[in-house]
Amino acid sequence: SVPLLSVRDVTMTFPGRRGGRSAPVRAVDGVSFDLAAGKTLGLVGESGCGKSTTGRMIVRLLEPTTGSITYDGRDISRLGRRELKPLRKDLQMVFQDPHSSLNPRQTVARIIADPLLVQGMAAAGARKRAAELMEMTGLIPEHIDRYPHEFSGGQAQRIGIARALATGPRLIVADEPVSALDVSVQAQIVNLMERLQRELGLAYLFIAHDLSVVKRVCNRVAVMYLGRIVEVGDKERVYAAPAHPYTQALLSAVPLPDPVAERARERITLLGDPPSPAAPPSGCTFHPRCPKAQEICRTEAPLLRVAAPGEAREVACHFAAADNP
Ligand code: SF4
Ligand code: MG
Repeated sequence: SVPLLSVRDVTMTFPGRRGGRSAPVRAVDGVSFDLAAGKTLGLVGESGCGKSTTGRMIVRLLEPTTGSITYDGRDISRLGRRELKPLRKDLQMVFQDPHSSLNPRQTVARIIADPLLVQGMAAAGARKRAAELMEMTGLIPEHIDRYPHEFSGGQAQRIGIARALATGPRLIVADEPVSALDVSVQAQIVNLMERLQRELGLAYLFIAHDLSVVKRVCNRVAVMYLGRIVEVGDKERVYAAPAHPYTQALLSAVPLPDPVAERARERITLLGDPPSPAAPPSGCTFHPRCPKAQEICRTEAPLLRVAAPGEAREVACHFAAADNP
């Protein structure tokens, strides 16, 4: 079947300067993936790897420099403001920091109703719908005239989710929706998002900086490093047998529920921070930090390709196939 969302070879280049000269920064460098209706793709990587930029291109808050984004069979990557307006109903975003993404001078009624007012709904109807959305997201509708600072972080994120749901979207890009919340609250928000997905048939692009958050919610997972996807596949496969050394390192940082296994487990520590996308390393851009790097890795960039015959998983590493007989 045709996927709800199809991203092909998308790049985003921002203008930049280095040493007094113009030096464009490629924040996203040839990203491709599909997302089926009603499913979740986890998009994982360290900060600065291009995840948020990718998410913003998909909801068309940003226009890709090159490449295509096909939503529901239609290329939306070059649409202008006017053509995008009706599409905003379908494509919504939930942001990382709920408090800073909500206008502190607006009541919850106004915040949640805003996307409806933009689409032309009358004020009374939009307010009624906002109250329903509060109920649907576990908020108390009687609090509709309160301001964001009167809510906890978890409640504020529920407001952000209610706002995203207002127009009845089919796809939500959730950009680290629980990263700013207490661990105890994170599970509640993830549960809420799962319930809403079941009830409303939503598709999620769920962005996170570690693999533990998306483990439960995603069907497929894509791992990004320095603007590129280095591994993508079905969740079960990637978590059970990560093929890319970067995925292996990220996964080794996820705590295991069994304390004995947790103590026995080997942690892979990566050297240093991710390099700047303004000056990416040669060859495989992961090579300065890769525990398995060989000579070829300095000069030749590995392509994303199927790691083993018949496997629904792709990996960008010269040696991934050898690890995966
Ligand atoms: Fe490591 Fe080389 Fe594979 Fe890159 S291509 S991930 S440097 S082993
Ligand atoms: Mg980000």
